[in-house]
Amino acid sequence: MRKPYVAGNWKMNLNRAEATALASAIVKAADHKDIDVGMAPPFVYLDAVAAAAKGSGVHVAAQNCYFEAKGAFTGEVSPQMVLDVGCDTVILGHSERRHVLGETDQMINQKVKASLAAGLKVILCLGETLDEREGGRTNAVCERHVREGLKGVTAAQMASVVLAYEPVWAIGTGKTASPEQAQEVHAFVRPLVSALLGKPVADAVRIQYGGSVKADNTFELMSQPDIDGALVGGAALKADSFLTIVQETRKAKGLA
Ligand code: PEP
Repeated sequence: MRKPYVAGNWKMNLNRAEATALASAIVKAADHKDIDVGMAPPFVYLDAVAAAAKGSGVHVAAQNCYFEAKGAFTGEVSPQMVLDVGCDTVILGHSERRHVLGETDQMINQKVKASLAAGLKVILCLGETLDEREGGRTNAVCERHVREGLKGVTAAQMASVVLAYEPVWAIGTGKTASPEQAQEVHAFVRPLVSALLGKPVADAVRIQYGGSVKADNTFELMSQPDIDGALVGGAALKADSFLTIVQETRKAKGLA
């Protein structure tokens, strides 16, 4: 069985005291021996959150990084810096990076390769907009995100990659994809990974679902066979709801 993975993307929220308190509460209470748990605070709180998580096994992720190691790239942060501050993971290709900040598949692919080469684990996000879904292009868009995002990534490196299917229309909107809608896309992505990188990689790769995951819809979503965890936005900002999502995931996967 694939080890489930629940990660919280805190986006541009919280202050230093709140981020530290949330991280400490999660580290203290999360039952993560049979499940991966991760938290992705804003860059400026990574050091505080990494200090709170040190030695716990809870993953700390940046929400983005650049693809160069250093240089004249004002405002950017390199994979090496993300590692240096105590993170082990970076989220790349989030829909807000794609659609609000204009990141292209090519840019995201450069970031994926640079992050893996530096020794980071990567959560690579993919997913269609409402227009794309209504236009019948869900699979084509998800296929492009996976193919382009993983271009040049080796089967061995895939041990450090988690995919996150996040339909854009379900992010922060309160509209969750139904378990069947989500499973359908996950079951489309896995054979695609198999075609690109082989069946053992496809069988092993974790595919998280993200998009208005909450304590009360987690069990149903996580009961789907190809959904291996969650990438959680809004509901990750409170320790209670995030910890309940972790517990509901463990239950859905027969671990509790
Ligand atoms: C996200 O940003 O990755 C996300 C899924 O947000 P929300 O849970 O708030 O929809």
